[in-house]
Amino acid sequence: MSESLHYKTASELSLMLADKSLSAVELTKDVLSRIHKVDEKIKAVTHLDEEDALGQAKASDERRAVGEELGALDGIPIGIKDILAVKGQPLTCGSKILENFVSPYDATSIAKLKRSGGILLCRLNMDEFAMGSSTENSSYFVTSNPWDLQCIPGGSSGGSAAAVASGEAILTLGTDTGGSIRQPASLCGVVGMKPTYGLVSRYGLVAFASSLDQIGPLGRSVEDVALLLHSIAGYDKKDSTSFKLEVPEYRPELHEKKGPWKLGIPKEYFGEGLDAEVRAAVDRAIDYYRSIGCKIQEVSLPHTEYAVATYYILATAEASSNLARFDGVRYGRRSEKATSHVDVYSKSRAEGFGEEVKRRVILGTYVLSSGYYDAYYLRAQKVRTLIRNDFLKVYEEVDALLTPTAPTVAFKKGERASDPLAMYLSDIFTISTNLAGVPAISVPCGSSSSGLPIGLQVIGKPFQESDLLAIAHSFEQAHDFSKVHPSL
Ligand code: GLN
Repeated sequence: MSESLHYKTASELSLMLADKSLSAVELTKDVLSRIHKVDEKIKAVTHLDEEDALGQAKASDERRAVGEELGALDGIPIGIKDILAVKGQPLTCGSKILENFVSPYDATSIAKLKRSGGILLCRLNMDEFAMGSSTENSSYFVTSNPWDLQCIPGGSSGGSAAAVASGEAILTLGTDTGGSIRQPASLCGVVGMKPTYGLVSRYGLVAFASSLDQIGPLGRSVEDVALLLHSIAGYDKKDSTSFKLEVPEYRPELHEKKGPWKLGIPKEYFGEGLDAEVRAAVDRAIDYYRSIGCKIQEVSLPHTEYAVATYYILATAEASSNLARFDGVRYGRRSEKATSHVDVYSKSRAEGFGEEVKRRVILGTYVLSSGYYDAYYLRAQKVRTLIRNDFLKVYEEVDALLTPTAPTVAFKKGERASDPLAMYLSDIFTISTNLAGVPAISVPCGSSSSGLPIGLQVIGKPFQESDLLAIAHSFEQAHDFSKVHPSL
């Protein structure tokens, strides 16, 4: 058996499982032994039940042996961000307030994964309640970047990106409210996608900012991400924001759609604050698209400069409301020091929430408070519309946009931890797409002189994931960036 099964793609492994040169149990054991070997350094995994994972693998092998109909992910080990409900497993959201909480039911995305035969392997670290860009806000431990253990893996889905990059899972699920799938994917050298708002049901996802949150796939190739997206997408009556549409077969369409495409370069994404090496790598990617006959044109998204401010008003407002449910009564931690009714709320929350979560709840409560609502929240909603209109307008002329995913490569642990504003700027290129609801993908496009990965972001039209994936796939196939792995 090959030594590096854990670095193969799900698509390659599915073929091996199909021709019986590999069993799901062998594959799962290989990935488990990888976790044992490297997770001490990476610290991506927050929960692992080996017996359960091997049981699922055995069941997959048995289905195959008797010729039962198999799902598209049958036998493939998948890691889950610790914010999605898996029945019977812990669900902490990286927070002490949910330290001992166990999910009573499956999220819709998880139920779908189970139906497609995926093996739910482990749970993965994240910034508390998905608030952050480095996983340093996890209440448990900080995850390391597999390319440089001194650096952060990005966040908030840092565990999901680091696990794929280090071979601790074949595929993972993350969530993206302002960049939390794409930014860590970029910093860890893997592929990560935020689907259009409404494509994937969020039932069973612990809400951070409900008008922005989306669940999405991370993997080692665009094809793998297409495969995983197909398994989790689609209408769900349990999520009123999920959209009724026929989910296309994304994977075969990757090969059918070959361009050339009309691609826009938003000039606002190439200004101040963009690292020179990141810019050079993205410029080379743009040259590639030019070389295959794509029409490249500069475009403008004029309200880009307001995106970060708008996001931090809307996301904190929604978070302050969503997190009100953690009150020491219904879920998770209850302070033992409480001596009165009010104490139960205030002490449980004071003990259970970390600093960043408290900062956001305070900010969100402020922008929603009477007298300030019109000045902040309502105005931010209006600016959000302007930002969305910017995208819809450029899409009259181009099929998709090319930008850097993040302004810099991975930074050192601690470097931005005490400066929230510097941290917030990590998402300057990803936040607008959440405000606009449009889909976007990050695909590896090079590395810095220090050997850290750089990501290219392709931003697409609403519900046109097939085109978005095909555009990213074209670049990936012409380069080897996704085939190199960190030495651990
Ligand atoms: N880093 C951004 C924040 O802290 C985005 C997080 C996310 O997408 N979940 O809010």
